Amino acid sequence: MSHFAAQRLENLPPYLFAEIDRKKAELEAEGHDVISLGIGDPDKPTPNHIVDAMAAAIRNPKNHHYPSYAGSPAYRKACAQFMKTRFGVEVDPATQVLAMIGSKEGIAHLFPAFVDPGAYTLIPGVGYPVYSGGAILNDSLSHWMPMTEENGFLADFESTPDDIVAKAQMMIISYPNNPTGVAADPEYFDRAIAYAKAHNLLLIHDNAYCDVAYDGFKPTSILERPGAMDCCLEFFSTSKSYNMTGWRCAFVAGNTEAIKTFGVVKSNIDSGIFTAVQDAAIEAFTGPQDEIANMVALYQHRRDLVMATLDKMGIRYAYTKGTIFMWARVPEGYTSAEYAEKVLMEAHVIVAAGTAYGPDGEGWFRMSLACEDDRLVEALDRMSKL
Ligand SMILES: *Cc1c(COP(=O)(O)O)cnc(C)c1O
Repeated sequence: MSHFAAQRLENLPPYLFAEIDRKKAELEAEGHDVISLGIGDPDKPTPNHIVDAMAAAIRNPKNHHYPSYAGSPAYRKACAQFMKTRFGVEVDPATQVLAMIGSKEGIAHLFPAFVDPGAYTLIPGVGYPVYSGGAILNDSLSHWMPMTEENGFLADFESTPDDIVAKAQMMIISYPNNPTGVAADPEYFDRAIAYAKAHNLLLIHDNAYCDVAYDGFKPTSILERPGAMDCCLEFFSTSKSYNMTGWRCAFVAGNTEAIKTFGVVKSNIDSGIFTAVQDAAIEAFTGPQDEIANMVALYQHRRDLVMATLDKMGIRYAYTKGTIFMWARVPEGYTSAEYAEKVLMEAHVIVAAGTAYGPDGEGWFRMSLACEDDRLVEALDRMSKL
């Protein structure tokens, strides 16, 4: 670690993709064609009507000033409308919604807002790396809730030891789930709410894939469930719903007191989302929604291709109900990291080792469905020849 680095940075895990990136560059320099199924960034562009709204908004001088910290009133109203039309959930735009510069920013700032140094956050045994990284950067601790094939990849908060939950202030869950692709039923959310209330935890639900679900399945908002407004914050993002990962635009909704606290922390750190981007997101939330169905149909087609290939290869996998990922079992005799390296070196395909997402990822690897059809078919063909 560099001399110019705080000691806490030594606790961050090594960046697993760094080695993969290096090998990829080597292979490409040797003239090999490397296909990446490693990243979770939609391959299709943002819908035109949203881009057009941005083009108009950027010419409005009113948008050239510092934005509102909390999000413009019109943006928060559109967020509330999204909650109402998607889930039938009523939230007050003035006190129960806050704009986020992408969910990633919001999740990282949960820790300074809600968790004291040395206190615990209960996080999923495999999950979005910002959950554990955010805790480390705040000098607080994580307890990995078991998340295994046996428990259906539903993070098992009930097994948390008493002495740990006594020192916990927050718990994070996320369904449809990155990296496993599984969904949770309303009963699971109800148990999580009851547990959070019993132990005075702020319960976070990261709902990044609320619009990316298959076989007609409609994901739940935790805020639909009774009692959720007493103890929950839920994150939504334009990133996966509208192919807007580059725009950095999301929001959080839920408990009034927590929203207020969160606003205090954020107003000390950032100055909100560029107002023109908020205007474009209003168009995303309130304009035509038909592109979502096309996007889901495309991913579902790819998911089915991948599942058929894995079946042929005799590789077991979690059944993807939502998200843009497949979570599959590493063949006997390899660790996750060894298998990811073998796939890269011999098939020239990048997959993500399961351990990049947490301790329960050992023995698994993740494939992204955000890859053009012909490239995906080519990657699967190469993998099945291994
Ligand atoms: C993609 C993703 C997000 C979205 O992050 P943004 O910062 O809004 O782009 C949040 N959580 C999970 C689990 C994700 O996979």
